[in-house]
Amino acid sequence: MRIDIVTIFPEMVEPVVRCSMLARGQQAGVLQIHTVDLRQFTHDRHRTTDDAPFGGGAGMVMKPEPFFEAVEALREQAGWVPARIVVTTPQGRLFNQRMAVEFAQVPHLILLCGHYEGIDERVCQYLATDEVSIGDYVLTGGELPALVIADAVARLVPGVLGNPESLQQDSFVDGLLAPPQYTRPAEYRGYRVPDVLLSGHHAQIARWRRLQRLLRTRERRPDLWQKVQLTPEDLKLLREAEEG
Ligand code: SAM
Repeated sequence: MRIDIVTIFPEMVEPVVRCSMLARGQQAGVLQIHTVDLRQFTHDRHRTTDDAPFGGGAGMVMKPEPFFEAVEALREQAGWVPARIVVTTPQGRLFNQRMAVEFAQVPHLILLCGHYEGIDERVCQYLATDEVSIGDYVLTGGELPALVIADAVARLVPGVLGNPESLQQDSFVDGLLAPPQYTRPAEYRGYRVPDVLLSGHHAQIARWRRLQRLLRTRERRPDLWQKVQLTPEDLKLLREAEEG
């Protein structure tokens, strides 16, 4: 998979994509991440990427031409394989695990980072396939959202994670949060790890984990809980937990 992050601040993006699992995926040859300097696609002496808004008002707006030219050049470089072209914006669809799975299906993901008052609307309307927000708050630029999206997508690409089975145990994969996890020491400052996890009894551990996932989701995320399809075994686990 190829991910291109188009930005006027490549120095903000570059160190992050050279670390940890993103670096590992690139070394393994299953992932390419390119940080693309938007200014490469300007033609004036000052390499201008923004201008005053039509209609007046405060701030600057990012010009459409460099984005159109950057996306065309990147798609050509990638051989016009199917692509998702994502504008980062607080006005977009809220990013979630389902969207990460969708984006991980295409071979080419292009993430466009805005600044100032945002990007000229024609980029959103006629160039982008998606407008995505990472939450209901406003950041100064699209680099952090682009990195959030790239990271969530990259870890789904086969070969990026050392232990791909762990993907099946993640929060949101089947609509539930993940269970609590513990590691050594079994007791720390008097705080003990639940006995069942030390029992070596795999069936009991699996039942305990399932119950924790149900209880956590019900308590912390009523929005997810509403959509959970409880199995007869889940109902039994919850009943037993309530009866103590
Ligand atoms: N004036 C815009 C508005 O109120 O909708 C906000 C522009 S913001 C200051 C500048 C850039 O940061 C945006 O173009 C976008 O790329 C990025 N950005 C800020 N908050 C974001 C969020 N929650 N999700 C995704 N991108 C965001």
